[in-house]
Amino acid sequence: MSDTRKERIVTIDGPSGVGKSTISRRIAASLSFTYLDTGAMYRAVGLKLKEARVDLDDADAVLDCLNATSLKLLPARAGSDGVGVLLDGRDVSQEIRSPEMSMIASATSALPAVREKLTLMQQEIGIEGKIVAEGRDTGTVVFPGAAWKFYLDAAPGIRMQRRAEQLRSQGKQVDEDELLAMTVKRDHDDQSRSIAPLCKAVDAHVIDTSLLSIDEVTEAMLALIT
Ligand code: C5P
Repeated sequence: MSDTRKERIVTIDGPSGVGKSTISRRIAASLSFTYLDTGAMYRAVGLKLKEARVDLDDADAVLDCLNATSLKLLPARAGSDGVGVLLDGRDVSQEIRSPEMSMIASATSALPAVREKLTLMQQEIGIEGKIVAEGRDTGTVVFPGAAWKFYLDAAPGIRMQRRAEQLRSQGKQVDEDELLAMTVKRDHDDQSRSIAPLCKAVDAHVIDTSLLSIDEVTEAMLALIT
């Protein structure tokens, strides 16, 4: 923890299924930093726009809906897979985790008004530092001054298998061909959108997690932070 010139923030970006969430939670716990799951915020807003049946091509309607939305993140509960998310006071923590919601989150995350609102919220949460932020643009757009930036990657088939195991562990049925197609499409869309696309920050450490365990990746990252 020697770098005092920059914000005491760790950013962890990369496509789906690289192990970002588990690794981010472990790094946050190890440093006693707050874990910020930016993807959960995009998922919750995607759910809100879907339930409100907002036409995503209607920028005014999207903005009105966002202005009437309250979003709160709660720390991950013991034994749970992710952070708690309250959307307009309702606990949507589980609902936002389906493959369908992943695709909806990706579509809504390309909207300028959505990105603007959530980026500001994330920057406010991180204003005091001591944050481990996980997402797609945390090192490039949300916290460009972060002291420690990482970009995790892995082969698409391996990422799909990890996601499949996670879904099966939740008792869900998985069609692997369909899941692979969704994974590839989501990453392609996230990488090719015009605002804040998924990409490596020039000053990020890049780690290919394909052949590494969660422990190995976490240790390698902590060695670069401390
Ligand atoms: O990380 P997670 O899979 O929960 O993210 C869901 C979707 O939210 C991503 O596929 C991406 O489209 C969007 N997202 C984003 N920027 C972030 C985090 C997530 O665009 N910082």
